[in-house]
Amino acid sequence: MSACIPEKIREVRYQISHFEKIYQRPAGSVKLLAVSKTRSCQDIIQAIDCGQNAFGENYVQEALGKISDLSSYNLEWHFIGPIQSNKTKTIAAYFDWVHSVDRSKIAQRLSEQRSPTLAPLKILLQVNLDAETSKAGVALTEIETLAHAVKDLQNLELAGLMAIPAAGKNIDAQRAGFHKLAEARDKLLAQGISTCQHLSMGMSSDFEAAIAEGSTIVRIGTDIFGPRNQANKG
Ligand SMILES: *Cc1c(COP(=O)(O)O)cnc(C)c1O
Repeated sequence: MSACIPEKIREVRYQISHFEKIYQRPAGSVKLLAVSKTRSCQDIIQAIDCGQNAFGENYVQEALGKISDLSSYNLEWHFIGPIQSNKTKTIAAYFDWVHSVDRSKIAQRLSEQRSPTLAPLKILLQVNLDAETSKAGVALTEIETLAHAVKDLQNLELAGLMAIPAAGKNIDAQRAGFHKLAEARDKLLAQGISTCQHLSMGMSSDFEAAIAEGSTIVRIGTDIFGPRNQANKG
């Protein structure tokens, strides 16, 4: 399986640039985040050898080992999993981006624990688009309050919004969900939160729809590294 990583990553890059073209997005406007949860450092190195430098992880303990073992490479680490308050200190110290902030208490802790000697931690607010109570994310109606609280925190930069919508039946249904996130981002920009540019949306099964709706970061695991083991599924 792992022998195919270079080929798969080239295919994903080709698809991203193809979708940029057909949906009239500027070339290079969609960043590829390789989601490396459950993958070994050997797998990650294969992706690095193809020029990939941004990786997404969901579990703090698992990520720490990889961040340490791969510290000789110049990589960008994105935390994309659920955040427990007792893990914010580690996240603030070792990550460059956090995609899954959905309450102000967590943002406050990240800001207090981020060293001012480091670049501001880039924060994306995770939005629950489907109002499913079981899912993580701030409700669409609560985004503005949270965004205005986060934008003033010292060692953070509010960089955009993230969502994991319910699986859409077809591309139009997928696009409808992503469209709501883009509208919410546009509203925050119009309110003067000028750093809030990014839309982290689109995974292996729906990144075409996400790019069509303005995604700037697609988070791809399976299409690069192959299927995850059920036992490790995150
Ligand atoms: C696992 C995960 C991904 C990657 O999903 P694939 O379907 O494997 O591409 C993206 N985003 C989040 C938040 C994830 O947890």
